[in-house]
Amino acid sequence: MEKRFKAIVAGAGIGGLAVAAALGKAGAEAIVYERAESLDDMRYPWHDDVQPEAFERAGIEVPKGSFRKKNWTFVTPDGAVRRMYEAPEKADFSVWRRELNAELYARAARYAEVRFSSQVEGAVRENGRVVGITVNGERVYADLVIDSLGVDSVLKKDVPEITVHDGEEIFAVYRAFCEKRKGAPEAVYTNKVYLKHLGERGIAWAIQDGDEVDVLAGRPGGMSKEVLMRALEKLAEENVTVGERVTRGGGIYRIPVRYPATRMVADGYAAIGDAAYMTVPMLGSGIAASLLAADILAECISSATERGLSPAEAASAGNLWNYERKYFLSAGAEHCGVDVTKRGVLEFSDELLGWLLVSDVLTNDDVCALAKGRFLNIGVKEALAKVKAAGLKKLPALFKVNAMLTRGKRAIAIAKRIPAKFEPRAVKRWERKLVKAVTGKKRV
Ligand SMILES: Cc1cc2nc3c(=O)[nH]c(=O)nc-3n(C[C@H](O)[C@H](O)[C@H](O)COP(=O)(O)OP(=O)(O)OC[C@H]3O[C@@H](n4cnc5c(N)ncnc54)[C@H](O)[C@@H]3O)c2cc1C
Repeated sequence: MEKRFKAIVAGAGIGGLAVAAALGKAGAEAIVYERAESLDDMRYPWHDDVQPEAFERAGIEVPKGSFRKKNWTFVTPDGAVRRMYEAPEKADFSVWRRELNAELYARAARYAEVRFSSQVEGAVRENGRVVGITVNGERVYADLVIDSLGVDSVLKKDVPEITVHDGEEIFAVYRAFCEKRKGAPEAVYTNKVYLKHLGERGIAWAIQDGDEVDVLAGRPGGMSKEVLMRALEKLAEENVTVGERVTRGGGIYRIPVRYPATRMVADGYAAIGDAAYMTVPMLGSGIAASLLAADILAECISSATERGLSPAEAASAGNLWNYERKYFLSAGAEHCGVDVTKRGVLEFSDELLGWLLVSDVLTNDDVCALAKGRFLNIGVKEALAKVKAAGLKKLPALFKVNAMLTRGKRAIAIAKRIPAKFEPRAVKRWERKLVKAVTGKKRV
């Protein structure tokens, strides 16, 4: 890079640390501001599922202590059970978040500066452009502010150009590790996921994890204390290994559940990770997507400066649009299709969901693909085989599933038609079409 490009990275989340390292390595000055007091103080004392290709792509070793979960058992509200087996080389890694954070932090600290105990309060704007942030009551300036503050980013209130999903697009999730009940018989199903848990929109899980059981209950939009208590009681009743004592976690967290932000960039500003709704929860996608986006964003800046663009031009919405576009073409568009599928499944009757899972209509590979956030692309021959497997009586149910898949495909196609150049009116038109295709609502 000719003239030193300066970036502020707000939040030392996965995307923030990864992009700071990548930008610093490319010669830019990057400073990360994180409110936690130290790395040890950062959240998530547990392991998370991450798509295996994410590490290779990001050039990161798989963190120590990671293991692969090779099977999952899905349970519907009426008790239908389906096991999914994954080929070992394709199974997600279950990764210690603290190990991963430590690795990303070490890389970021090599090429950038990380300042803990830094409370980001808002964005500083001048002439319609984001020029810095307020942190611990002081203003700091840079060519680009990267928003990696997670789903409740305080920066977005000052950048109205950016998409903010409403409450329904957020998943409220309780997660705790409980001591394994002494003397309880070994669980038959080790990784059990409840779909439409208790017949409500939402999921739950009970995962056997050595001497602990990983317990989760989540509902889109929010979860009252009563709903949570009912969910936990039922989970403990059906999973006798769940003991009383919580050893780790035990809080309610918020995860974006839906399609990525249709606008994640503005002049001097780019959102990454949960701040840009890049995750499709429970599919091992949030971490993978944040790592991928970090590389794309750093590349977008360094290639612009190599082409001779000034720092201000490199950090303009026009150039940053290349980042958003590449992200959509690499992962975001497919997430839009998966979103349609997830919304559709939550609307299915318990009976239809149960039948779909246990019948031969969905193959093991189909279930694996859906569980990993890949969109189902069913060809004519395959569709005919499914009709045959289902029988004529089930045709109306298949039409329903087919309609949902068709809507998903349409959403992916529209998402991929993301304008090549940043032209505000064209971008707005695209956003409107995409939001309608995914949610059925006119919202942007
Ligand atoms: C219960 C749960 C389970 C999950 N399971 C998985 C999984 O299995 N696989 C997967 O891939 N993903 C999973 N995720 C999602 C994953 O954590 C995120 O998608 C991913 O970490 C990207 O988030 P992020 O880095 O953008 O934001 P975050 O991880 O939320 O990081 C934001 C950072 O910004 C800091 N911050 C926030 N506000 C301020 C402020 N005002 N000033 C300064 N700093 C601030 C926070 O302290 C934090 O360090 C899970 C999330 C939760 C909550």
